[in-house]
Amino acid sequence: MKNHDEIAALRDENKRLRKIISALMNGYTTIGEANFTTGKVTFWQLGTNLFNNLNIGDALPLWSDFVPLYVKYGVCAEDRDDVIEFLSQEYLRENLKVGERLKREFRNNADVYGEVKIIRIDEDNILMGFTERDQEITERQKKIYFDSLTKVKNRKYYDEQLAEKSLQAIVVADIDRFKSVNDHYGHECGDLVLAKVAEVLNASVRTSDEVVRYGGDEFVLGFTNIDYHALEILMERVRQTIENIRLQDDIPIRLSMSFGVVYGTGIAREMFSEADKCLYEAKVKRNTVVIKYFEHTTKGGFKNE
Ligand code: GH3
Ligand code: MG
Repeated sequence: MKNHDEIAALRDENKRLRKIISALMNGYTTIGEANFTTGKVTFWQLGTNLFNNLNIGDALPLWSDFVPLYVKYGVCAEDRDDVIEFLSQEYLRENLKVGERLKREFRNNADVYGEVKIIRIDEDNILMGFTERDQEITERQKKIYFDSLTKVKNRKYYDEQLAEKSLQAIVVADIDRFKSVNDHYGHECGDLVLAKVAEVLNASVRTSDEVVRYGGDEFVLGFTNIDYHALEILMERVRQTIENIRLQDDIPIRLSMSFGVVYGTGIAREMFSEADKCLYEAKVKRNTVVIKYFEHTTKGGFKNE
């Protein structure tokens, strides 16, 4: 019976200690401890993002296994050496006195803030806390950069995240005679068309490609890695798919879209204005793809009459 009481008391004490540790590590999503002599690491609070991706269970045997894995998946390439040094036993033994704490900030793989905090409990043991802010930021960004009607990214995303990025191809696409959809079938039907078109665009590209509702009935597609020929085929397929969109039976709308496409490595903002000129050309005939090299060499345009 006494034994049972002792176990219960230990359990309570354990809970109390963990609460103290959690308070010390307030704000850190992953908390654990490591022992210098054995090299063993134990986590008892795992963050939801990075550490799950790393497939770490409740415990990982060795600090020497954990650090390279963490740095590889959790730290951006530029900051890796710095974090590896910070997390080395030699560095911590030399720079972290018993009872004191050290923090190191870095950028994680999503290029946003990450942080490690280490507290030295005694000669041999350290407590460690990790933040994994990329999940949180990604969630926040998802909301502010999201167009709720079309479920693709919005203009704010283009302006703040995409415009200065280097791309291999950009497409500026605009629905043909969209105003008449609104005029004949109402704004709600127009909304339906916008959502459907966005769905087609989104389904036509890879997840690594960008789909943005630039404004009104105008969309932007961004590609970082695509072959010219593949792009030509893709755009023709998209043009046809849009043409084949059918809404409900009572709405006999025939849709089409015009596309201005620019191929060749450059900054999105610069390529955009060229693609916009191609779109202007495409709008002469409508339901047309006009593709040009970024260097202004006309490579061709085509239309399926
Ligand atoms: P064009 O072939 O030259 O592109 O002709 P268009 O009629 O499509 O002309 P334009 O692209 O200038 O028209 C865009 C229209 O899109 C004007 C505006 O009323 C409508 N629009 C913009 N945003 C929305 C929206 O969120 N919902 C709906 N239903 N219509 C919108
Ligand atoms: Mg239009």
